[in-house]
This record gives sequence, structure tokens and C-alpha cells, in this order.
Amino acid sequence: MERQKESNVQQKKGRRVILFPLPLQGHINPMLQLASILYSKGFSITIIHTNFNSPNPSNYPHFSFNSISESLWESEVSTEDTISLLTVLNDKCVVPFQDCLAKLISNGDQEEPVACLITDAIWHFAQTVADTLRLPRIVLRTSSISSFLAFSAFQILLEKGYLAEQVSFSSDSQLEKPVTELPPLRVKDIPIIVTHDTRNFHQLISAVVSKTKACSGLIWNSFEDLEQTELTRLHKDFPIPMFPIGPFHKYCLASSSSLLSQDPSCISWLDKQAAKSVMYVSFGSIVIVNVTEFLEIAWGLANSRVPFLWVVRPGLVPGVEWLEPLPKGFLEMLDGRGHIVKWAPQQEVLAHPAVGGFWTHNGWNSTLESICEGVPMICQPCFGDQLVNARYASHVWRVGLHLERKFERREIETAIRRVTVEAEGQEMRERIMHLKEKLELSLLEAGSSYQSLERLVDHILSF
Ligand code: UDP
Repeated sequence: MERQKESNVQQKKGRRVILFPLPLQGHINPMLQLASILYSKGFSITIIHTNFNSPNPSNYPHFSFNSISESLWESEVSTEDTISLLTVLNDKCVVPFQDCLAKLISNGDQEEPVACLITDAIWHFAQTVADTLRLPRIVLRTSSISSFLAFSAFQILLEKGYLAEQVSFSSDSQLEKPVTELPPLRVKDIPIIVTHDTRNFHQLISAVVSKTKACSGLIWNSFEDLEQTELTRLHKDFPIPMFPIGPFHKYCLASSSSLLSQDPSCISWLDKQAAKSVMYVSFGSIVIVNVTEFLEIAWGLANSRVPFLWVVRPGLVPGVEWLEPLPKGFLEMLDGRGHIVKWAPQQEVLAHPAVGGFWTHNGWNSTLESICEGVPMICQPCFGDQLVNARYASHVWRVGLHLERKFERREIETAIRRVTVEAEGQEMRERIMHLKEKLELSLLEAGSSYQSLERLVDHILSF
């Protein structure tokens, strides 16, 4: 599908939509992409954002931005315990968010009344605020439908003992056990997130699920052909309008919402590599590894003899600035076969003809971006929804090889060669190209995402 430029705005709808992204990279990107899509459909856009991880307003001259002061302590500003961060944010944003929203509604330009609020699902407190101000709230869930289905079943999983089995590091056979209530998941695929107080995690999930049930509509960055069964299953428990309109980034350019600057040297380096020869490696914006794991990754890449582009985000190894743990002479030994950057223009990288595989943590954006470009994956999920996404990528769509949280150099080396060089990788590539075709069809006029977007526009105008 043709990318719609911002200038290609449809006739103005005379209504304003207020969006409130969660301040994490994997959530900011899809929310700002959604804002651009709605802008292209004629809505005026206001973004409310926290000071923490604030997006750059100058990249969006057509939107108006309002920051709220959430007053986080220095010690609270860390993504190493994401659940603690999200719990604190949900607590500290209530008052400044309500004040900001109330002002925006009351100052509202009469020509452009506010139609609705769209928030990330994790902002569960926003439902009560929206109810108080009598404003409809639509939820954007930035992950897969299948992982939300698992989160929404947490109470049952807790009661049946599955969660306890997973957290207590049970035997391999227990972890391999199927979760009969949630096929095709096994106990080890249940999307837990380790945090210093597990009760916070359960409370957060329960609040997100119950407040999502109370909202006026649910938007997905996914498409029907990919998750039709899960969508139908979810709809039974969530009888609210659902809008799977993804993949968002195919409607508009997205790099402008990157919090880190993207190193353009990736592209000039890829330009010099053979077609489909390179393994691209990135574990997103939050995953951390220890020094031992970091070295296993490095040696696995080096020993595979496959060219690689590796994103080592500052902070990937806590307490280490960047590449210091690499042994002396490691980079020289690669002799140009590897390129390491702090942050990449990922969508451009995945679309580059030299890329033959993506070793990913299976964050939902990365998974979807890989499908969009037909790049087979090595799936190495670490926590939360990544566990579910990896299970689907490897066993349902069969477009990836599952590494299941083992950073071991020989296994890594073998996996890289299986995906980039061997016939198995070629078969995965054929399957993912097939998904890419379906995805492209969904964005055409008669396609499911296109139609869902039309329904969403009508839904917003009906408020
Ligand atoms: N990303 C990027 N450059 C990188 C690595 C990641 O621009 O070097 C982007 C990627 O395209 C995706 C987002 O960061 O849109 C990561 O989101 P995802 O859901 O995959 O993972 P998370 O960071 O939330 O764990």
C-alpha cells in the first residue's frame, strides 16, 4: 500500500481526538502512528504526555502537545523493574492528567469539540477520569491479541496453579505442559513479568483488564488474517467494538517517535552485504542481559561466520556503558563481518534486501515489523507478552525458530545458520512472505484493516 503523507490529509472532520501514550518506546511508536493515521483521516490531534520519555513535538508540527508533570523520583525512573515503574506512573499521573484533560475539554474550540480520549491500555486509571469528565475512552492495546487473551485469563491461570508452576522454576516437563485453557500456550509461555513484588503485577494486570472491559472501543495494531481466532475468542469476554487496523507503520513514517537517535551507518554497511545474508540482532528498548549472556551472544555471532548487524543499546547490560565486556581484539577479529550500533532505524533495516534474518526478543512491534518485511526470526523472548508472541511466531505461523531464553554460544551459532543458510530458514521465509502478502491485502480498500479503520472513524464521529 502507498504510504500516506501527512500532507495528504482528508477533509477536516471538525473533531479533536486526545491521545495519551505510555512513555515506553514500544508504546510511544504505535500511539504516535495511530495519531498520524487519525490526522490523515481529518481529525485534529492533541497529545498528552509525561515529562519522562517525552516525545519530540517538533517532529509533529500538526499536533498540539501538552505535558503533565508526574514528578517521578530519580530512583523511580528505571525500566529495569517495568512493573514498579508502571504502577508508580498509574498512581502519580491521576491528578495532573485529570487537570490537564479537564482544561483541554473546557477550553475546547467550539468548532472542534473533543470527540474522545484514546489511551494506552496500561493507563488503567484513565477510565475513571474519562467517566468523571463524561468523555468516551477508547483503548489502544499495543501488543498482540493473543497475548492480551492470556493476560485476560490470569485469574483462571492463578486459580488453576499454572502461574505458581511457572514462577517456581518447575521441572522442564512441567514447564512444557500445555495450558489447556489457552491453546497453543505451554506453562512456560504464560506472559509473566518478574518484579520485586508479584502482587503489583497481578493488581496491574487485573486493573488493565477490568478497565479495558469498561472502555468504548479497543484498537489493535494487528490484522484479522493473523489473529482471527484470538479476536473471536476475546470478543466473547469483551463485548465492545474492536478495531484491528494494523500494521500502523505501513500507513505513515514512524521513525520520528524514536527516543534514541538511529544510527544511519547501518544502511551504508548493509548496502555492501550480499542479498539475504545478514542476521539483524536487536532485543528492543527494555530487555537487559548480564555480562555472561552478552559474551555468549557475541561469541555465537562471531562463530556463526554469518554477517551480522547488532544493536547494543546503552543499558542492555546494566552497569556497563557499551561494548566494554568484549574481549580485546574481538572487533578486529570480525574483520568487517559484523557491525554494532547503539540504535538502528529498525524498519528500514528490516526492509533492506541484505537482511536475511532477525534475532528478536519478540516485542510486538518488532514481530509485526518483521512480518511486514517478510524476514524470518530467531525468537528469544525474555518476559511478558514476548513469550506469547514467540510461541505464535515459531509454532502457529511457523516463521521463526524458538531459542527460549538460552544464551549459549553453540546453540546461537546453530540457530543463526539454520535461519540464514539452511533450507529450514528458506521454508520459514516462504511462509512469512505469504503472511506479508495477506497483510498487504488487508490494507487495500476491500481489506480487513482498511475496513476496520473506516469503522473506527465512524465510531469516533458517533460520540
Ligand atoms: N527500534 C528501533 N531501533 C532499534 C531497536 C528497536 O527503532 O535499534 C524500535 C522498533 O522498530 C520497535 C520498537 O523500537 O518499533 C521496539 O518495540 P518492541 O515492541 O519490539 O519492543 P520493546 O522495546 O517494547 O521491548
